[in-house]
Amino acid sequence: MKALVLNQVEGKTVASIETLESTQLPEGDVRVSVEYSSLNYKDGLAIKGLNKIVQQFPMVPGIDFAGEVVESKSEAYKPGDKVVLTGWGVGERHWGGYAQEARVPEDWLVPLPENMSSLQAMEIGTAGLTAMLSVMALEHAGVMPGGKPVVVSGASGGVGSIAIALLTHLGYEVAAITGRESSHEYLSSLGANMMLSRHEMATDARPLEKVYWAGGIDTVGDKVLAKMLAQTEPFGSVAACGLVGGVGLPTTVMPFILRGVNLLGIDSVMCPAPRRAAAWQRLASDLPATFLDNISQIVSLENMVDLADQILQGQTRGRIVVDPNL
Ligand code: NDP
Repeated sequence: MKALVLNQVEGKTVASIETLESTQLPEGDVRVSVEYSSLNYKDGLAIKGLNKIVQQFPMVPGIDFAGEVVESKSEAYKPGDKVVLTGWGVGERHWGGYAQEARVPEDWLVPLPENMSSLQAMEIGTAGLTAMLSVMALEHAGVMPGGKPVVVSGASGGVGSIAIALLTHLGYEVAAITGRESSHEYLSSLGANMMLSRHEMATDARPLEKVYWAGGIDTVGDKVLAKMLAQTEPFGSVAACGLVGGVGLPTTVMPFILRGVNLLGIDSVMCPAPRRAAAWQRLASDLPATFLDNISQIVSLENMVDLADQILQGQTRGRIVVDPNL
């Protein structure tokens, strides 16, 4: 089977296409023929050897995949079943989706929702699951359609694009924070009602600012997240899921203690199985079918090193699906 393999050479991470045997796959109950994987920001970090995402070599990256079971020691899955996997350290500590096959513990798999193809599952991928978990967290915290807009940062990216489409479909008004004017038309087509400049949102926030938002979904961190918190209405909520702008959070306690604002942490990697399954079902029902075709492109394993550079430089848009069989 063909795989993209990361090795450590003289302290540097080097990626190359290799031919492996299925017997070399790590231990697991279920062997899956990978039909599609995808490119996420974390995959870019892994391929370029950044942020210590990968610490065991050789490693097959790819933090998510969808495909068909070919061999199973599990009662829960039989050959022919369609499955999807995101997170659990796959592509970081356990060989991932940038290969024609993967072998994983049964608990890490989710049955593919009935009305979803494996291609659609990876058009959604970890980014889409994270967007859905963020929307579910806002709903749970009481942020409902019909009020002030919900603001989304990193809008042109995977998480941001899908969050905008989901929120729009659910009836929320959406404000998109983007660093690219060239993305405005794309973001409007997803349903964003207004555009905000990333550069203006990344300025120092006062402890409390004029209120604009019922809530937010933040993929950027640092000053952008601080600004969102300072501009969120009393008892509103902001879901924090990303760090493309930095890991800092230069805020004060004022939004929390004078406005009752909630900061909601989102972790798709270790998200408990029932919430994960519920999120996939919601994605199957709440994401407009036409939307996925408009935001994704399909690439081969050979493209991944270049695309890793591009995603880290914020140059990709929407979702990139990887077909390991191309
Ligand atoms: P993408 O690279 O697809 O999207 C990120 C977007 O952020 C870019 O498209 C760009 O949008 C904007 N951006 C890029 N660079 C910067 C910068 N320096 N400062 C501010 N904004 C920037 O990434 P994903 O959507 O896949 O992931 C987004 C974040 O969410 C990442 O940090 C990722 O690690 C995290 N994540 C977290 C998960 C979790 O479980 N918590 C799961 C999945 C992702 P624009 O040009 O429109 O501004």
